[in-house]
Amino acid sequence: MRNYKLSWENLIGNAETANYLRKTISGDKFPHAVIFSGEEGIGKRFAAEICAAALLCENNNGEPCGICESCRLILARSHPDFYILEPEDNKKANPSIKIGQIREMQSEAALRPINSARRVIIIDGAELMNNAAANCLLKTIEEPPSQTIFILLTANRSNLLMTIRSRCMTVNFERISAEKIRDFLIMRGVEGSEAENLSIVADGSIGRALKLKESGGAQLRERALEILEKMTRKDLSSEEIFKFGAEIADLSRENLADFINYVQKILRDVYFMGFMELRNPDIAARLKNIKIAERKLNLMIETGAEFNKRIKSNANLRLLAEAYLFQLKKILGA
Ligand SMILES: [Zn+2]
Repeated sequence: MRNYKLSWENLIGNAETANYLRKTISGDKFPHAVIFSGEEGIGKRFAAEICAAALLCENNNGEPCGICESCRLILARSHPDFYILEPEDNKKANPSIKIGQIREMQSEAALRPINSARRVIIIDGAELMNNAAANCLLKTIEEPPSQTIFILLTANRSNLLMTIRSRCMTVNFERISAEKIRDFLIMRGVEGSEAENLSIVADGSIGRALKLKESGGAQLRERALEILEKMTRKDLSSEEIFKFGAEIADLSRENLADFINYVQKILRDVYFMGFMELRNPDIAARLKNIKIAERKLNLMIETGAEFNKRIKSNANLRLLAEAYLFQLKKILGA
């Protein structure tokens, strides 16, 4: 059923992984607990939903048929045997999955599946379970209720409890090529040159490309580049830093993180110019004009990493943005 949204052909990239998953489902070999590991925005959640639909589908052939009752219930988000757990406070600085959510899920998992032969539970952002929640889940994974399948999604597998990792099979998802991201964006109606730019800046993540499109984030890279150019010419004024702080205060924590990541990637390109493939090949000419001594580059990259951590705290965005730029300026002696 080609127009059914949840089908493998709609997953961008990771074709081999998709093939493998399809086979384990049709061969009835899908593990009872599996970790989908890989960066944000590369299709883990979508693949997990396809798996769930296929596992619950009445015509079990590795792919949701799209027409049975189960497939229709999944699409309507009202399948009683399909459960997605994610942080409740996703918008906050430190989202987490709490023990209450795990307990609630467990009491449902203790019952027999209602509509299908089994039940599928997706835990999106599994690394965001606090310790109590993770230990609570561990008990269920150690002695899983029969017919229940767990799919844990994580961008940070090493942050999961060792004991959970060791009890789940891990499936790795890779970054998506810029070309595939570009084609996907064009298919979604994004104009050619914008799609091209976004696909480079998105760094392998469709989710990031879409978010950037929404927030005008491609301009953030331009802003990062401009600011670095000015700094190295020693003509970035304090007023301009305060202006940038105010701009960021109107945006989000994520935007500041994006901005810092752009600065980091630009610095990385300046560092490896001539030795490694550039992360920002489209602006190579401008990158060549940024001259920074290696020692200073190192310090600047360290500063970026440190501020990336601080963004995750509740610190004031505007002050963070300003402190970050003043720090870089100081390192450059600008
Ligand atoms: Zn079906």
